[in-house]
Amino acid sequence: MHMDTAIPIICKHCGSQKLTPFRKYTQITYYHYLLPCTCGNQYEFAAVRTGHITRAYEEWGYFKDNTWTVKDTKRVGPQDRRVDGSDILCHRCYEIADDSSWQYTEFRREDLDGEYCVRCEKCHHEMKSSP
Ligand SMILES: [Zn+2]
Ligand SMILES: [Zn+2]
Repeated sequence: MHMDTAIPIICKHCGSQKLTPFRKYTQITYYHYLLPCTCGNQYEFAAVRTGHITRAYEEWGYFKDNTWTVKDTKRVGPQDRRVDGSDILCHRCYEIADDSSWQYTEFRREDLDGEYCVRCEKCHHEMKSSP
């Protein structure tokens, strides 16, 4: 049997024809925490902390005329939070800093292609597919 059809139309497990196409993708948020040095020391920043958070998303919808229409998106699974580096330059400011002293910046990157899948509405069996 050839897998010529991009989207399977019948679930092999239960024979249902009600299938929901969805897309899985990951989003990575890179973040920087900067603590300004305010004690008159030579440093511009007292401390720096960088890291990234990986989150997985699923969005589902339908294919119509080969166009992917998104109906809803939700986050799936736990988020993965990593510290990439931290540096303390001015210990004096670092010791007296509280949470509100830190400046927070972030930028996000999405895996735009992701992975297209199809799920059976009845038994939730998952099949890989291409758009
Ligand atoms: Zn300082
Ligand atoms: Zn099924």
